[in-house]
Amino acid sequence: MPADSRSPAPSHPPRAQTRHPVDRETLPSEALLSVSGLRVRFGGVDVVRGVSFDVRTGEVLALTGESGAGKSLTARALLGMLPREATADGTVLLHGTPVTPADRGRRIAIVPQDALSALSPVHPVGDQIALALRSVQGLTRKDARSRAQQALAEVGITAAASRAHPHELSGGMRQRAVIALATVNTPDLLIADEPTTSLDPTTQDAVLTLLRERCTATGASLLLVTHALDTARSHADHVAVMYAGTIAEYGPTDHVLNRPLSPYTTALLASLPTADTPPRTRLPTLPGKPPTPGETTAGCAFAPRCPRATDLCRTQHPEPRALDQRIVTCHHAALEPR
Ligand code: SF4
Repeated sequence: MPADSRSPAPSHPPRAQTRHPVDRETLPSEALLSVSGLRVRFGGVDVVRGVSFDVRTGEVLALTGESGAGKSLTARALLGMLPREATADGTVLLHGTPVTPADRGRRIAIVPQDALSALSPVHPVGDQIALALRSVQGLTRKDARSRAQQALAEVGITAAASRAHPHELSGGMRQRAVIALATVNTPDLLIADEPTTSLDPTTQDAVLTLLRERCTATGASLLLVTHALDTARSHADHVAVMYAGTIAEYGPTDHVLNRPLSPYTTALLASLPTADTPPRTRLPTLPGKPPTPGETTAGCAFAPRCPRATDLCRTQHPEPRALDQRIVTCHHAALEPR
C-alpha cells in the first residue's frame, strides 16, 4: 500500500486528461475500431468464424447472442487476452492502424465481469486508481491521489469509501470502482464483458447507465458484451447478434431489435416478455441447442433450429449481405412490404 494513501486531498485537484464529451445525437460516422474477418481457433477448430464490425467514435455497440455464440472470445481477442492454446487472425484496426500490445490497457481498456478479480485485494481502491494514473500519465503521487478521488467521486464513491479495500465494498460499489479504474486514463475504447452479471437487477441498470455516462463524458466508445437483449436495447446505438461464431444480424439497435430480419434475432426476441405480455404467459423458447465448436454443417448453422429453413439453408452457408441499413447473414431475409 502506498505510504501516503490516506493523506487529505489538495483543495485544487489537478486537471484530468480530458476529451470532449460525446453528443449522442450527432455521433461521428468514422470507425474508431474496425474488425474484419476475425477468427479465433482452438486446435484447428474455428470458434469465432470471420466476424466483422465497426465501433464508431463515441458509440455503444452491443455484442449479443446466446451463451457459446463467441461474444466473449471476440472481446478477448480484441484485448489480446485469449487463452494460450487459442490463435486469432483477421484485421483489427484502431483509428485505421493495427492494434498493438501497447494500445491494450491504454487506448483500449476492459470492464470485466468480476470486479473482484480485476482489483487487488490488498490495496484500497483509491490507491489502485492512483497507481494507474501514475503509471500511464506519470502524475506525481499527490496529484494522482487527488485525481483518483475525483474519479471515484464521478462514479458515486465517497472519499471515505475510496480508502476501503475491495472486499469491504458492495458488488455495485466494486463495479463502480472498476469503471473509474477503466476510464480514468481516458481510453478510446472500453470493452465491457457482461459487466453486471453478478449484480442484482436494480443495481445492474444503474451500473450500466453509469458506464454509458462515463463513456459519454470522456468521449470513449463502448463495446458491450451482453447476452441480454433488453440491455442492448436500453444502452446500445448498434447491435451485433452472434450465433455459432458468426454475426447473424448487425445494425442500428432500433432496426435490429424492433424490425429484425434474421430468423435468429426474431426467435431470441420472441422469448422475451414485453410490457403487453400477460402474467404467467409461457414464452416460446428456441428449440434445440447451438452447435458445439467444431461441429460442421453443410449450410446455415442455425438451420436445425430455424422455422424458416429450406433445402438451400441446409446445403449452403449464407453470406453476410447488406439490407435495410444492416448486415444480415440469411438466405431468406427480406424486407416485408409495408
Ligand atoms: S439461412 Fe435459412 S436456416 Fe439460416 S437463418 Fe436464414 S432462413 Fe434460417
